[in-house]
Amino acid sequence: MGSHPCSSQLPIAYCLETCSRHALDSSVPEAVEGIAEMSVSEAAVRQAIVECYRELQCRGLNVGAAGNVSVRFGAGMLITPTGIPPEELVDDEVVAAGLDGSHAGALRPSSEWAMHAAVYQRLSDAGAVIHGHPDACVALSCLRRPLPAFHYMVGGFGGDDVPCTPHLTFGTRALGDAAGEALLHRSACLLGSHGMLARGATLGEAFETTERLEVLTRQYLLALSAGEPVLLTREEIALAGERYRDYGRNAAAQARPRRWNVS
Ligand SMILES: [Zn+2]
Repeated sequence: MGSHPCSSQLPIAYCLETCSRHALDSSVPEAVEGIAEMSVSEAAVRQAIVECYRELQCRGLNVGAAGNVSVRFGAGMLITPTGIPPEELVDDEVVAAGLDGSHAGALRPSSEWAMHAAVYQRLSDAGAVIHGHPDACVALSCLRRPLPAFHYMVGGFGGDDVPCTPHLTFGTRALGDAAGEALLHRSACLLGSHGMLARGATLGEAFETTERLEVLTRQYLLALSAGEPVLLTREEIALAGERYRDYGRNAAAQARPRRWNVS
């Protein structure tokens, strides 16, 4: 069998099944027992959520059932259930929940549903939310520090830093509100002594933002371990932000296939 495509400890066969393989666009998912009556679009969103949840683990961006993934759906959201790790989750176990946490069925939505709901309630253009505990983000969040403008790519999150909320008990509305406020003007934030939260217009965008935040946070911690990083000025980061927006438009114009292009 080929080389391991990611840094996880999962069996290689499993990883080859779940890593970087899908361009989910108009493909109709295979019939899954229990969701035969579902609309194709709902089935596609459920499939994308499960694949994304698994790839977060595969890329070392999340461990076990600590993180959670949602996509806005109708007046509510489709969200990973509480307590089921990625390798066990199947499409029909993704929970349809209201933005008040209401849900039907035996499985409960993620204990952090309030964080996801808070983002959807505040931002009409948020189509997907990812919460995780990736190592570097957790480490910096335990210092209760924002990710500052040590590198121009920090401007890609919408400002001159990625803020860090205070520590608030997990699974509470208070944490949801703090995280929702932090994402009003940024695409991601750190959660004090906890982890991170990212949003996107699509699930693929939220995934890319999650991955970019973890990489930059790791690079910041590396720089910090060698000295005091020189921070960019507000003007420098604003200029980088403008170029980032143009870069995004150019990338979109190329119409390259994107995974999990659902919202
Ligand atoms: Zn968490």
